[in-house]
Amino acid sequence: MRSITEHASYVVGLIGADIGPSLSPSLHEREAAELGLRYVYERIDIHELGLAPERVGELLREAQRLGFTGVNVTHPCKQTVVEHLTELSSDAAALGAVNTVVFDHGNAVGHNTDSPGFQESIVRGLPEVEMNRVVLLGAGGAGAAVAHAAMSLGVERLLVADTDRDRADSPARSLRRRYGADRASVPARLAAELARADGLINATPIGMATHPGAPVPLELLHDRLWVADVVYRPLETELLRHARRLGCRTLDGGGMAVFQAALSFALFTGHKPDHERMLRHFARLAEDAPAAAMRSG
Ligand code: NAD
Repeated sequence: MRSITEHASYVVGLIGADIGPSLSPSLHEREAAELGLRYVYERIDIHELGLAPERVGELLREAQRLGFTGVNVTHPCKQTVVEHLTELSSDAAALGAVNTVVFDHGNAVGHNTDSPGFQESIVRGLPEVEMNRVVLLGAGGAGAAVAHAAMSLGVERLLVADTDRDRADSPARSLRRRYGADRASVPARLAAELARADGLINATPIGMATHPGAPVPLELLHDRLWVADVVYRPLETELLRHARRLGCRTLDGGGMAVFQAALSFALFTGHKPDHERMLRHFARLAEDAPAAAMRSG
């Protein structure tokens, strides 16, 4: 790693578990090459290193010592990394989760680009959809980021559902505190809420190549719904395929994956990446990538 830092202008890492198939290195390095930047993106896989997620602080300090520009952080370290940072952006503080750390004069500053990445994806991919009542499935890391984005997008009432009810309670409470008492709740009856919802967002892993199927019974979908998925491996999930057949407006998880990467890239380099070019590159990568599990970063 030392020789890399000596020869490159930007050295970035991705810390997480089982990140071998991640498309982030190629996405970042290709855009840097297009912009004429010297940029190296290294995978730092805690499983390969035999480290528990709690050891992320040691990896962070080592990366900083070696002269890394910053790191992306993915599952299962997005929360455990927070206590090791000297500063947090307001989004990262609100979410309690970080996917981008920038090293700056001895400081380690945490950001969350998943949330604005999802927001940009919706703005571009589903312009002018109704936002009165939206059901969000999954209250894990991606769900929390999506929930805050939904509030910023003007969703009037967000119904947060998780098969593990306790996991949904906590983000719903934090959304109410931050955005208003009537803006978020946990639905008592999901079927009834879906029947009168404008939109449905899947932020569970269900639909991934490694977790096939749909996160809700497909007969609960109807043609007045728009449907967004954060899963991007595959881009066309069972949920989206069925929604398209019904005539729903749909959005796949590729946009969020690209825009969170683009926002991280800008934080690392101070250069503005070309979002359209990154989208095209991502589409080619997603087609070519092996069908193994793929994590965002
Ligand atoms: P996580 O394990 O932290 O959370 C998933 C949550 O979904 C859990 O709370 C689980 O109980 C819940 N869940 C599972 N099945 C459910 C169902 N049928 N109905 C309701 N809730 C259900 O996982 P995560 O880190 O939040 O990631 C979720 C997905 O988001 C993954 O597929 C990941 O690849 C994807 N992701 C995509 C992007 C992107 O840029 N597009 C970014 C981050 C994560």
